[in-house]
Amino acid sequence: MIARVTLEIALRKEFDYFIPPELAGRVDVGSRVQVPFGPRKVLGCVTAVAEESDRPNLKPILKVLGSQTLVTPKVLRLARWIADYYCCAPEVALKSVLPEAVRQEKPGWRERLFVRVLPGHGETPRLPKRQQEVYDLLRSRRELPLTELLERAQTTAATVRRLEDKGLVAISAEVSERDPYAREHILPTQPLPLNPAQARALAAITAAMDQSPGGPAPPQSVPGTAAAGAAAGRGPGGKVFLLHGVTGSGKTEVYLQALAHALEQGKGAIVLVPEISLTPQTVERFKARFSSGRLQTLVAVLHSHLSSGERHDEWHKIRQGRARIVIGARSAIFAPVEPLGLIIVDEEHEHTYKQEEAPRYHARDVAVMRGQMEGATVVLGSATPSLESYYNCRRGKFTLLELLERADDKKMPVVRVVDMRQTVRKGKMVPIFSPQLHEGIARRLVRKEQVILFLNRRGYSTSLECPRCGYVAGCPNCSLSLTYHRQEQKLACHLCGHTAPVPALCPNDACRNPDIRYAGLGTQKVEDTLHKLFPHARVVRMDSDALKRKGDYRRIFSDFRAGKIDILLGTQMIAKGLHFPNVTLVGIIYADLTLHQPDFRAGERTFQLLTQVAGRAGRGDVEGEVVVQTFTPSHPAIQFARRHDYVGFYEQELEMRKPLSYPPFSRVAMLTLKGRNEDKVRFSAEHLKRELNQRLADFEGLIVVGPAPSPLPRAETFYRYQIMLRTPRMSALSLRLADILRTLALPEEVTLAVNVDPAGLD
Ligand code: ADP
Ligand code: ZN
Repeated sequence: MIARVTLEIALRKEFDYFIPPELAGRVDVGSRVQVPFGPRKVLGCVTAVAEESDRPNLKPILKVLGSQTLVTPKVLRLARWIADYYCCAPEVALKSVLPEAVRQEKPGWRERLFVRVLPGHGETPRLPKRQQEVYDLLRSRRELPLTELLERAQTTAATVRRLEDKGLVAISAEVSERDPYAREHILPTQPLPLNPAQARALAAITAAMDQSPGGPAPPQSVPGTAAAGAAAGRGPGGKVFLLHGVTGSGKTEVYLQALAHALEQGKGAIVLVPEISLTPQTVERFKARFSSGRLQTLVAVLHSHLSSGERHDEWHKIRQGRARIVIGARSAIFAPVEPLGLIIVDEEHEHTYKQEEAPRYHARDVAVMRGQMEGATVVLGSATPSLESYYNCRRGKFTLLELLERADDKKMPVVRVVDMRQTVRKGKMVPIFSPQLHEGIARRLVRKEQVILFLNRRGYSTSLECPRCGYVAGCPNCSLSLTYHRQEQKLACHLCGHTAPVPALCPNDACRNPDIRYAGLGTQKVEDTLHKLFPHARVVRMDSDALKRKGDYRRIFSDFRAGKIDILLGTQMIAKGLHFPNVTLVGIIYADLTLHQPDFRAGERTFQLLTQVAGRAGRGDVEGEVVVQTFTPSHPAIQFARRHDYVGFYEQELEMRKPLSYPPFSRVAMLTLKGRNEDKVRFSAEHLKRELNQRLADFEGLIVVGPAPSPLPRAETFYRYQIMLRTPRMSALSLRLADILRTLALPEEVTLAVNVDPAGLD
């Protein structure tokens, strides 16, 4: 017998090894093995097992790691699809489906020493005082981890060893599972009676789950011939739903009851949420329903803030089938749940589902593909669905379910758009707060209600400019201006982290103006101004500069919830899925920030952000109000958000994208060339363009744009040029691209990155 192995060192190739007799029966598809490679021993994953190989002189597999195959054949198939569709090497795709903590042999399960009381035979001998105390403590607990015993009894291991020598206690090593939520006390919840819209949505989802076959869908002939989203939805199983529910419409309750249905069917489920909304509050809602009571089902959590040991344990709980529901960020889509009945992707429009380094997969699209492959039902949920997903409903690929009203009969907040052009007084700077927002905050403070203020830019001022000569302090490594951080008294680049001291004069030798100015606005400056305007208000700023320690995030949220904070000010960190009943005013300081980005999705982003932020207001008994400050009040993204009109926005945005064949009418592949020598990068880009034109001449309906400098032409000392490809047939294009790239010769210092379905254009 032989095994085909993908090695973890990047080689874009697979190798055959023979399975030595002593390992017979232990090597299977998905096994992790150690094999010889030249003089080295390397790790790899078995992707196929066969009788024989057509290669001569095979070397043997040296070792099998772990007692269980780590990658199931189904997940392996998903990894292959990712390699094909996202145009990356198989070993890169394979790496992403296993968390680092699981791939490494260490840390493994944590073994701890436990001390246990042995059943007594007759009378306990008289013990010295110290030993007696330890023994009594242990008897009251029956068993304790050694470290805990030592701490509680203020004693040493020697004392405990003496008790062991006397046959009173036993010390043994046991696996102790790390549970990141062990210290939480979570109250169980019961299913809520659904309102009619929720009930309709749930019925459609459970009906699809009942119809889907128990087993996996038959394999596809050519992997990757069907792009996720384009082909799924009506497969043999794997129906895809888009649950469009306004903020507060009770989508989560629908998820919870659909999950219960999966469990009743004896199946497991994956719930994806954006990393940023993977708050204790969110996890709690799922744990409270399923980690206690009748179902007693373990909920596993996977996200980037777990220690690698915790991640290892959570993953194995899933692999062993002890955890049936997985909740996690992007990469949880690869969790080895079997059999898989349901995948939920909450906030499916979130661009953080897209991984920005290879493999550059989009977890929502992977979810759709996995659902199709494994016959699992997929539910994509959002208050502001991506245009792609809504379009897929219009085309009949997905099934649309709607929750158009808030679940608890709370009204949608009133949204007031304030035209900031009206606030400009001659010769004066634009104020941070319009009179409307200023008054709104003052009123809330008097009424002891809470306020959320949103500005998607951290720092104090965005740039340091000389009004006389036009000098702007820029980053030496990136084509970006440096941001002024007042607390730290420094200028910092938000891309590469470069910092510089704050100059006292304009650094331009010909100018030396001492009156150099800060322009633009960041969260720190808003915070300062709030302190001046409302000296008695308790203001807390929440952005990545303010959150320094682990736990800051949850502490601030729990303080806010407990009413210890009046005004919470932050970046997009505070925009997501949070639920604070006492928030009656949400202010958006500068809505234009996302609007003017050089990206065809700028309008969509702005609409989504405004709608999501606005959704934080009025979730309690008092009606909510949203104040949006902007210099372009008539922009459709702002006007449709004001009217809570998703469909209106969708229709007009689609009209704009159609003539240029932008998504959802096509899919985009962005080819970015990077290097430190600008000429070489540009020549390489032109060379690539010629290759593409020549070798893809027969590819119908392909649009090739560029090469051109990226919207961010220089980043972290690298010059960047781009070529954009657009086609409705991306899977076919990806395979052709892979062919072209295999033979493409680039200068050594120039690298090429392929990004299929990029989330942004930089
Ligand atoms: P979404 O996820 O759509 O933004 P949530 O699931 O957070 O909305 O629900 C908003 C609020 O409505 C929550 O407090 C939730 O407990 C409540 N809710 C949801 N469904 C119902 C229901 N059927 N009856 C009463 N309250 C509900
Ligand atoms: Zn920089």
